[in-house]
Amino acid sequence: MNRRKFITNALFSSLGSGLALGSFAVQAASVKPLSKPVHSPATSQSEKSLALDDDKLDSHVKDAIYKAKNFEQDYADDIYLSKRQSVLLRTILKRLTRLQRLVGYANFNLIGFDSALLYARRYSVVGRFSKREIALIEALFVFDASNYGFFGKKVSDKLTDKVATKNVKKISGSGHYLYQGDALDLYLKLKKQIGSDIILTSGIRSVVKQLHLFIAKTDKCAGNLSRAARSLAPPGHSFHGVGDFDVGKKGLGAANFTSAFIDTDIHQQLTDLGLIAERYPESNPYGVRHEPWHIKVVKDA
Ligand SMILES: [Zn+2]
Repeated sequence: MNRRKFITNALFSSLGSGLALGSFAVQAASVKPLSKPVHSPATSQSEKSLALDDDKLDSHVKDAIYKAKNFEQDYADDIYLSKRQSVLLRTILKRLTRLQRLVGYANFNLIGFDSALLYARRYSVVGRFSKREIALIEALFVFDASNYGFFGKKVSDKLTDKVATKNVKKISGSGHYLYQGDALDLYLKLKKQIGSDIILTSGIRSVVKQLHLFIAKTDKCAGNLSRAARSLAPPGHSFHGVGDFDVGKKGLGAANFTSAFIDTDIHQQLTDLGLIAERYPESNPYGVRHEPWHIKVVKDA
């Protein structure tokens, strides 16, 4: 039995103790509409036809697109963490936030899970992760995200995957890094063509960084994993881990990650230049809201 299978089985069998993801796993299994990964590349044609006929598939796609458009709402078939898991999630969130403060905002983008555990153990200001916290983190990482409505590809196989730091370049003034090669070349090209008003708002994100963002979002959504995943890829699923990046307009701040970005001259110039592709265009099949600021660097396949 491989590790992933082992953990998943352990989760299902831990239902009685109320530990880990038992409750949302069971809820997921009982939910019909989005419980099958209708768009996951990993799903074979025969699996698809077994699961859903064409008409149904069509309505499921429409359903996913509608939800992604109205991404900040709760829906009846959304998947939630249990109360107990939500409490645990908040302690993890706070611990990761303390870790981010300790290592610094920029460095936190690159930190691997093993290093995170080590820092937490060594520095009392962070404090070591408890076994239950680690179990919930592992469960979140291995649980099939299509069960709660996220149909994007998994790009990191292991929770402990590391960023190859010898291949990264820090972008001064941004607090972010880019991979040398395609990502850095494209960013520099955009900078040259558009000027100093275009800024890097998020570059490389390690699994730990994505975990922190996803947990923070889930906490804000009162434990609603489906709603969190409509705005943010679950840990292991972010293409920021392998090369994609986000851009914005200087001075726009957090609004760079809202629909306000579409109305900026930066967005207009990006469109006119024809140099970029969006990872999550409008009406995408991944169950994710439109992200006009997210630049696709890495190919889908
Ligand atoms: Zn992004």
